[in-house]
Amino acid sequence: MRLSRSLIPTLKETPAEAQIASHRLMLRTGMIRQMASGIYAWLPTGLKVMSKIAQIVREEQDAAGAQEVLMPTIQSADLWRESGRYDAYGKEMLRITDRHERELLYGPTNEEMITSIVRDSTKSYRDLPRLPYQIQWKFRDEVRPRFGVLRGREFLMKDAYSFDLDYEGAVRVYKSMMLAYMRTFHRIGVTAIPMRADTGQIGGDLSHEFHILAPTGESGVFYDAAFEAGDPFATDDINGFYEQMTTIYAATDEKHDTAAWEKIPAERRREGRGIEVGQIFYFGTKYSQAMDFTVTGPDGQKFYPEMGSYGIGVSRLVGAIIEARHDEAGIIWPDAIAPFKAAILNLRQGDAATDGLCEQLYAALGADALYDDRDERAGAKFAEADLMGHPWQMIVGPRGAAAGMVELKRRATGERLELPVAEALAKVRG
Ligand code: ATP
Ligand code: MG
Repeated sequence: MRLSRSLIPTLKETPAEAQIASHRLMLRTGMIRQMASGIYAWLPTGLKVMSKIAQIVREEQDAAGAQEVLMPTIQSADLWRESGRYDAYGKEMLRITDRHERELLYGPTNEEMITSIVRDSTKSYRDLPRLPYQIQWKFRDEVRPRFGVLRGREFLMKDAYSFDLDYEGAVRVYKSMMLAYMRTFHRIGVTAIPMRADTGQIGGDLSHEFHILAPTGESGVFYDAAFEAGDPFATDDINGFYEQMTTIYAATDEKHDTAAWEKIPAERRREGRGIEVGQIFYFGTKYSQAMDFTVTGPDGQKFYPEMGSYGIGVSRLVGAIIEARHDEAGIIWPDAIAPFKAAILNLRQGDAATDGLCEQLYAALGADALYDDRDERAGAKFAEADLMGHPWQMIVGPRGAAAGMVELKRRATGERLELPVAEALAKVRG
């Protein structure tokens, strides 16, 4: 993308309404614009990041055996009357009436809809298990939308739903989803910790939330430093992995158990704040019973499928990652989800050799590069590249251009290297 022709409306001033870093930085770098309270338009760089996150989420869901579907955002109230949640859900649900006076709603979640779809296509136990998921917008009329995309009213969620023959099957999917989640967050480049959780509106008996650590998180979190010890996710041993994840202590303030906490050696106790970026639920036959979804088993007897649901806040993750990865100068994107791998900074617009080398780099990197081709001071270009958080800056001035050299700056460390063109490109491509 050429910066001079991009819809990247950066702001010089700090927007007054933004209370925390991610909201401020997303507005300042032109990633999003607020269209109404808790409702945002995603501009090119914001959308690129969100799409890259969604793609990693998708690949890990597929690898866990889930199948992507796409359900509508608008649902019929009758579906929610079947489960009894139409009245129970309260004011967070946005209710709509169409021209025929039929009651509709903008889905805050999709247990009812997916249960009705799977119910209509499942006759015998041989049709199970099923594990559909979607990446789709949700609407919750939050009392207090705030912190930008962290607590929006309209937000993008990955939601998966499992339907199994029995308890063992349901718990197996639950564990494999936990593994898929940990792999997802690891690939994105952030640390998320699974914590035992209450089940809230969704209901059920077993649930974990996944929290990214950040000082601005809404939840207090307590965890054992053993969680900082790297990457146990390249395993096929789902039971071993699950045991490891659930025996190491981690809890939000709601579930904190001081007796268990005090048994952990003091030097391993970590306290901080966390942002919930995902939650998984096992809730058994709660919805299959309420919605009369029965299946004939191998013994000819009818039974209710065992269910779970599994959410990731895809749009919230964009803000949560910034909360976890920024400094005074701006965002520090992890490589895997950065909108661009590199910014090309032309320090002497109009100088033939400099322009030529920049064009060469831009042609080589294509969509992976943001070419700052504006007629601006070098200082302004440096500051804006730091603000936008590209993993690499490729700095090109007349002296380097004459010698065929590019100066590379790594945003995360500030490290600088002077390299010939081919080597600089190889470094950025990673
Ligand atoms: P919270 O406790 O933050 O209100 P929740 O527990 O009600 O969230 P879930 O039903 O677990 O949310 O939804 C799955 C995921 O969707 C959450 O883990 C979160 O990442 C995301 N999410 C939920 N509400 C919002 C929101 N208002 N804005 C952005 N993301 C959200
Ligand atoms: Mg939750």
